[in-house]
Amino acid sequence: MLPAALPEDAIDPTDLQRRVKRGEHRPPTCDHGDWTFAGADFKRKATKWRCPTGECAPASTWVKADRLHPLIPRESERSRKLYRSRGAVEREFGRLKNEWALLPLRVRGLARVQLHADLTILAKLACALAKARAASLAA
Ligand SMILES: [Zn+2]
Repeated sequence: MLPAALPEDAIDPTDLQRRVKRGEHRPPTCDHGDWTFAGADFKRKATKWRCPTGECAPASTWVKADRLHPLIPRESERSRKLYRSRGAVEREFGRLKNEWALLPLRVRGLARVQLHADLTILAKLACALAKARAASLAA
């Protein structure tokens, strides 16, 4: 049996892998080397890249943003900083799942799961608030 076709807007992971293997994720290049990042236009959803020496014509080009060409280039310090904060988010998700009972769901349906998650997070925040108040009273 053939696999079901992906919806039109779905991201085909094998296509992404193929494009990465072909090196399509790399910045534009010329005889002078790899082009350097020259900014992003978030409204236009595109990044600007420049020839390292500026001798090429045109000396810069716009690259439309997609999964392979994010608006914040992956090898930049800003991207590294953003990705590092990912760990903190995942740690909190793990805490909610394992310590605050969000993983063993005993309810079905989006509305009920949403209510369960909301109440759980509300209880967690109430505990954090009580702890903060107790700490400020002690000081
Ligand atoms: Zn060049």
